Amino acid sequence: MKSAVNNPIIDGAGTRDSDTQKLMAKAKVMMVDDEPINMDVLQLHLVAEGYDRFVALSDSTKAMSVLRMEQPSVLLLDLIMPEVSGFDILEMVRADDDLKQLPVIVLTASNDKSMKLRALQLGATDFLRKPVDTSELALRMKNTIVARAYEQRLMHYDALTNLPNRQYFSLLVRKITQTTEFKSGSLALILINIDRFKTINSTFGSSRGDDILWAFSQRLQAIFEGVNSHQASWKKSGGVVYSLSRLGGAWFGVLIQVADKPERDPQMLKLLPMLADSVKQPFMVDLQDVYLNIRMGISVLDGSSGNVERSLTSAESAMSFAHQNPAAGYTFYKPEMIRSTQRSLKMENAMRGALENQELLLLFQPKVIVDTDHVSGAEALLRWNHADLGDISPVEFIPVAEASGMIVGIGHWVLKSACQQAADWRKAGRMDFQMAVNVSIRQLHEPGFLQSVSDVLADTGFPAESLILELTENMIMENVDTNTEQLSELRKLGIKISIDDFGTGYSSLSYLQKLPVDQLKIDRSFISEIESSEATAPIVKAVVSLAHDLNLSVVAEGVEQAVQLDYIQSLGCEEYQGYYKSCPLTASEFYQLLFDRTRKCA
Ligand code: C2E
Ligand code: CA
Ligand code: CA
Repeated sequence: MKSAVNNPIIDGAGTRDSDTQKLMAKAKVMMVDDEPINMDVLQLHLVAEGYDRFVALSDSTKAMSVLRMEQPSVLLLDLIMPEVSGFDILEMVRADDDLKQLPVIVLTASNDKSMKLRALQLGATDFLRKPVDTSELALRMKNTIVARAYEQRLMHYDALTNLPNRQYFSLLVRKITQTTEFKSGSLALILINIDRFKTINSTFGSSRGDDILWAFSQRLQAIFEGVNSHQASWKKSGGVVYSLSRLGGAWFGVLIQVADKPERDPQMLKLLPMLADSVKQPFMVDLQDVYLNIRMGISVLDGSSGNVERSLTSAESAMSFAHQNPAAGYTFYKPEMIRSTQRSLKMENAMRGALENQELLLLFQPKVIVDTDHVSGAEALLRWNHADLGDISPVEFIPVAEASGMIVGIGHWVLKSACQQAADWRKAGRMDFQMAVNVSIRQLHEPGFLQSVSDVLADTGFPAESLILELTENMIMENVDTNTEQLSELRKLGIKISIDDFGTGYSSLSYLQKLPVDQLKIDRSFISEIESSEATAPIVKAVVSLAHDLNLSVVAEGVEQAVQLDYIQSLGCEEYQGYYKSCPLTASEFYQLLFDRTRKCA
């Protein structure tokens, strides 16, 4: 990054000649020798080689305190000195937390081999005989400094993208915020995450995933380096970036200077849309276009200690609100967001009692055969009513239940209740009744899951052939090989598998062919795009024909209007769900729909 020029740590890691020259000029060389004349001579030669920062010390008793204060880049150490010898200093340096990485080149007039060995044993980086051959010393120093810069580079840079890493990022924030000129609130952090990157990795393989990460990082860098005229404007108009770092996985961090609150800062408001636009164009993977979604959260850094982690947490918490403003893709942190995180915590605690206190309830939404309007079955949809928290949407509490692992117990209750209910309706006269149950990936991966499903079927007497388990496309693709095995086992029991929210993820055709599934449910966002009878909804059309090619049946979700039903019928879609027929109903309402043919919404 060009902005590295402003930056005290970032440069100084290359190995090209000009970089090496810069490294040498920046290196602080400290010499400790009881004879000052030796140091004068050395310095003269080293200046001629391009070094220009020196600290010379002839009183070896002060060596440690001067070292701690000066923090040199390299130490040239005489071994034989009165009072405190070079060996003593070497030993103390290696035992000191702040200094133990310091390269130490030992110089001695002695010919004694054992001395040399002892110095190396104590951790000397290199060893030279006096009188020193100054050109040899200059070369050895150069090598030492370059090697150290390389080590630092490895420590502070990400090998894939060549961007600074998290460790460096934290170091930089500490450095900036600890300077006396630093004004609290003048530094903002933009945290960027690629949505569902794990899915991309497992769909295309991690090496393709790496390619995408690299390409994405190039696009980000281009914004700051101003490759084209549009992008150049951000820096030209005075934007100051301190670092673009890869913080790990698909997480990136940008540190910029702000003159105002981030949500009002003109530079910030210019930069964010540029970052958002960076994924407008697809990425090419194996001749296939892949679109990325990114989310961004923005927080401010103050000067207090521990601010790096806190700002990252704030930015992450802001990011989790990005879905409220999907068009923009970014959210500024506000203190009330912490309150929402607290609500999640409260929810998690309250959830522990939800089952025992019978706060959970299932609603049932009819699944309808498109051609005949016949109700073939239902999807069970979970509801939670809590005394203090009120009615909580599954969209809000399922993720909390998944994160805490409680979904396993809750999911078991859902499966058992839904199968029991469906078995009752079959006994009441609807022998063809099918029940669809949503399953979270945490359940699928639970070791006893297969057994618990067959137990439920045995206990309720509901036939496996009439049970459909719905898993979202993203969940399946996240760990496709393991999931394929589990799904095959379930199908061996006779159970049908449906891919929920189809079209929102990254399924590749090659995987779809191999997946042991029976049905695709087209996500309702695609159905809602059908607005007229002459609709051209290319994705819906493509999904239906793809599904039929693979011998899968298709369910359209979220059908609300007659035109939508007409259109999916014209495509040959088998079943649908949606408010057009009915919203989710309580069990008794559903009973009426099934047996009295009246329709009423919950
Ligand atoms: P989903 O599986 O995609 O369920 C369909 C959602 O669409 C339901 O929302 C349903 O009420 C809603 N819906 C149905 N018809 C229409 C329509 O015509 N228009 C519109 N706009 N929406 C319609 P709900 O009940 O809020 O459930 C939301 C999500 O929560 C579900 O999405 C599912 O992913 C999850 N969920 C619900 N119950 C369970 C459960 O028992 N276990 C698990 N793991 N997840 C569940
Ligand atoms: Ca579903
Ligand atoms: Ca769905």
